[in-house]
Amino acid sequence: MLHGLMMDVPLLISSLIEHADRHHGDVEIVSRRVEGDIHRYTYRDMHRRARQMANALAALGVALSDRVATLAWNGYRHHELYFAVSGSGAVLHTINPRLHPEQIAWIVNHAEDRLLFFDLTFLRIVEAIAPHCRTVRHFVAMADRDRMPAQERVELLCYEDLVDRHSDRYAWPTFDERLASSLCYTSGTTGNPKGVLYSHRSTLLHAYAAVSPDALGMSATDTVLPVVPMFHVNAWGIPYAAPMAGAKIVFPGPNLDGKSLYELFEAEGVTCSAGVPTVWQGLLAHVEAHGLRFSTMKRTVIGGSACPPAMTRLFEDKYGVHVLHAWGMTEMSPLGTVCSYKPKHLAQGVEAQRAVQVKQGRAIFGVDMRVVGEDGGELPWDGKAFGSLLVRGPWVLREYYKGEGGNPLRADERGREWFPTGDVVTIDPDGYMHITDRTKDVIKSGGEWISSIELENIAVAHPAVAMAACIAAPHPKWDERPLLVVVKKPGATVTREELLAFYEGKVAKWQVPDDVVFVDSIPLGATGKMLKNKLREQFRNYRLPTA
Ligand code: AMP
Repeated sequence: MLHGLMMDVPLLISSLIEHADRHHGDVEIVSRRVEGDIHRYTYRDMHRRARQMANALAALGVALSDRVATLAWNGYRHHELYFAVSGSGAVLHTINPRLHPEQIAWIVNHAEDRLLFFDLTFLRIVEAIAPHCRTVRHFVAMADRDRMPAQERVELLCYEDLVDRHSDRYAWPTFDERLASSLCYTSGTTGNPKGVLYSHRSTLLHAYAAVSPDALGMSATDTVLPVVPMFHVNAWGIPYAAPMAGAKIVFPGPNLDGKSLYELFEAEGVTCSAGVPTVWQGLLAHVEAHGLRFSTMKRTVIGGSACPPAMTRLFEDKYGVHVLHAWGMTEMSPLGTVCSYKPKHLAQGVEAQRAVQVKQGRAIFGVDMRVVGEDGGELPWDGKAFGSLLVRGPWVLREYYKGEGGNPLRADERGREWFPTGDVVTIDPDGYMHITDRTKDVIKSGGEWISSIELENIAVAHPAVAMAACIAAPHPKWDERPLLVVVKKPGATVTREELLAFYEGKVAKWQVPDDVVFVDSIPLGATGKMLKNKLREQFRNYRLPTA
């Protein structure tokens, strides 16, 4: 046996900010604050304040591997905590503030968080949960001293006090790269939320993959605005990837409406962004309504749920913004696939490019995929056979925090372990993965499977449709048939018959929905995805006209 003779330098999150300070120290980080104003400073300033905060954490008794929670928007203080907490060896637990307070308290107790940092927006949540949080020693308001709220229900510390009171003399400790760095809970549709515990190693490897050209393609010449929240799988890794690349960052804070985002894109010269389709819908509506243009924006990553082709076309063909359709999960840090072209797509022209962009893309190096049928046997990559997607790789979950939910992995014939994603997919001969559904959302009609995503994509291409969800409705003959639930655009009119006719020639006849219902809104989950389980519940007893 002959070992390599290269240095064994651990991959640690603190090295990202040390690198950004040394090589890109004057690059700006711009934040829209909860206070309403714009804050700007540099990577060098950020590194200094992160060191001050690391000293503050030590003074508050935070020890190696202790969990420190945040309830916060995308902003510079949250970013400082990404490095102060993880860099000092503690675990950053980013909590989704859109969850119900009871669920938040449950998560805090399960994680045994020692400190909880929060943006003032979430004061009410903190007041509601504080009496139930058994392990939290201090609640810290991420605010200036003169903004500290006058209230007596919870004893609060002030973030800026903590920073001011501590020295910036701090040497980031060195430790095993496999130690936990951060924690995100994923809320399935049933059961309690489950904790996904990332390591320094998995985070750094994921960041290397994220910056690479066919993934986010991030460089020192970029200005990146992560719309995806820092409480949703670490904003898809951008808070780590940006300092690795030396890119300027623009944090949008709490204002995620189309107007606020557009103004920030233009004012700060944003070149790339990332977010879920529902956010882009708001931005595009604003841009369309006011006849605006993007003057600096070159590309955006769209994922979290399927990017409707109509949205891709609008971004690409009207506004010249390149869409990178991407797929991932909390359990995958989250990046799995990105839909970047191969040379043949460039040669084949625009229509071929739009056709491939409907797919979620090809695996980035580090992620291995496999599709299996109901019997567990591997299916061919022919773009037709669909089955359950399994993945493996160094930033894919092995088990949930505290062993919750038992062993999620499945072994293959060679004994290699795979994580079942719960997604139903095809993979084509070029390796492009296409999600037809979540296992739970697929519509099973007379033994055939109908893709709810495909039917939704068609519906939202209709000019009168703002949002559409397709769910299975019970049917006496076919077991299940598709029911289309639609939110119309304000002021738009369209009938059930017109929408059903819109499917003609776009899918096989037996896949056309059986009925359409119009609703005022579709329930969205904490990460902006349509809650189809809620809709199914709502329409449980719906009688289709075909039944
Ligand atoms: P989460 O862990 O909350 O990020 O959810 C992960 C799930 O979101 C995946 O397993 C997919 O079902 C879904 N998802 C993520 N990206 C996409 C995409 N581009 N298209 C369709 N579904 C997606």
